[in-house]
Amino acid sequence: MTSIYLGLGTNLGKRENNLSQCVNLLSANQEIDLKKLSSIYETEPYGFTEQPRFLNMVVEIETMLAPNQLLRVTQDIEKKLGKKKLFHWGPRKIDIDILSYQDRVIKQEMLTIPHAQLHLRKFVLIPLNEIAPGFIHPLFNKNINQLLDECQDESKVTKIMHGKNLIS
Ligand code: AMP
Repeated sequence: MTSIYLGLGTNLGKRENNLSQCVNLLSANQEIDLKKLSSIYETEPYGFTEQPRFLNMVVEIETMLAPNQLLRVTQDIEKKLGKKKLFHWGPRKIDIDILSYQDRVIKQEMLTIPHAQLHLRKFVLIPLNEIAPGFIHPLFNKNINQLLDECQDESKVTKIMHGKNLIS
């Protein structure tokens, strides 16, 4: 497994526009090669449910940036797009999670890879399965079908459009 997967989410303001700006900022970064975009899915909020629905998608990238450097880049993009997270699991304009980085396993204060929630969220597993059906979770050594079978998240995840339409 050589690829890196990012999970994008938004539930504030013009959600499609937020995803579009995020994908285009990733693609404009000279260090990042955007390889694949999943469809966009509308999902019920997870955790705190009294908030607008999210749009979620997963993108595959290649980069020479080390995981911590990549985190800095994704956090810069979040800042540029005005990320405002009011509280944990609360509404946010854009959220970029590094879901996995090749087959690396990292546990640092600021960075956990694979993302600690990857296997727990249908809105991550469903778009990931769409662009990376061969994905294997390097910590659990489980394929995406096993992860989906075992996932207990029952929130509704509905495909609404293809991600390719976001690239300008
Ligand atoms: P949140 O806003 O809930 O996505 O959390 C952001 C925090 O999670 C930041 O402080 C990051 O340092 C930390 N973090 C840990 N692992 C990851 C990861 N794989 N991707 C993105 N952020 C991460």
